Amino acid sequence: MHIIKTSDTLKKHLIALRKEQPKVTIGFVPTMGALHQGHLSLIDASVSENDITVCSIFVNPTQFGDAADLEKYPKPIEQDIEKLVKNDCSILFLPSYDDVYPSDYKQMIFAIGELEHKIEGASRPGHFQGVCNVLHQLFSLISPTAAYFGQKDFQQTVVVKKLVEITDSSVKIRVVPIKREPHGLAMSSRNVRLSAKGRQNAAFIHRALSQTKEDLASMTVAKAVAKAKQFINAQKGAAIDYLLAVDAKTLEEISSLDEAENITLLTVVEYENVRLLDNIILK
Ligand code: AMP
Repeated sequence: MHIIKTSDTLKKHLIALRKEQPKVTIGFVPTMGALHQGHLSLIDASVSENDITVCSIFVNPTQFGDAADLEKYPKPIEQDIEKLVKNDCSILFLPSYDDVYPSDYKQMIFAIGELEHKIEGASRPGHFQGVCNVLHQLFSLISPTAAYFGQKDFQQTVVVKKLVEITDSSVKIRVVPIKREPHGLAMSSRNVRLSAKGRQNAAFIHRALSQTKEDLASMTVAKAVAKAKQFINAQKGAAIDYLLAVDAKTLEEISSLDEAENITLLTVVEYENVRLLDNIILK
């Protein structure tokens, strides 16, 4: 695996590669590091569908509202490198802040509409513009054939598809299912902040979502969601940030399963001071 630390070197490397193999397909997996099986499932999907896989590790400050959250973000780079090598990643791109955002860079505002402000966007103002800025920079640099994102960050996948649409980008967006810990908690780099017991207990989030999906066979959306909220609120130390069923394309809240072709149930639960995101596809 090549480890490349500057945009210039990566640009030159990819130009040479494309000259040698004009039809080369490049899969791109953007991450913030502290890699786990969830990230590696994106790498696996990219490796199986492309000639070359580029993984970036960049903890993007513009998508963190909270400086303390950014500061606390884990950075186990040696382990990350080992995992990427094992999973056949071809290039690890490890840029510095100045490399992604040169001194004359002006943060752009992307016209992603209401997607920016609703649900996760309401809890994290500026977050999705930060995501769009970093991805726009990385997509422009790499021009990947396809880019891989986790279903876990569901709203992000919708935002990224919108970004590709409004910037007329040719990159294909692939969404990879959620990888879970053995008890059912969605894997996340933030899970290391939970206590060992909390990490096991936190499986109640996935249980609540799965139960809601079952309940919807015989209950209205309002009733099933209210039941899930009651169940989660009954867990000691758990606080729901949001739990709602949305149209998977527009993220508009729905009140009946007939209202959209594809529907996802989204939640964030704060547990042991960690924001835990999860979702389940209802149809
Ligand atoms: P992050 O490093 O948190 O920015 O995540 C990088 C990518 O990995 C994003 O597309 C995430 O959605 C994806 N990802 C994170 N956790 C999981 C998971 N448990 N299963 C699948 N993909 C994930």
